Amino acid sequence: MIAACPECENKIDLPDTTRLSEVVECSDCRSELEVVSTDPALLVIAPEAEEDWGE
Ligand SMILES: [Zn+2]
Repeated sequence: MIAACPECENKIDLPDTTRLSEVVECSDCRSELEVVSTDPALLVIAPEAEEDWGE
């Protein structure tokens, strides 16, 4: 299934095995994206796993 990156609108091809809450990386802008829906596929910017993780 195809989902759009909420950051850059890049089309991301998700495997059919993708599950809710999985985190994928946008191949274009490198944003970490969390799967919040699979039907239709919907991605949001993933929250930081660790606080103050660089940058
Ligand atoms: Zn992106």
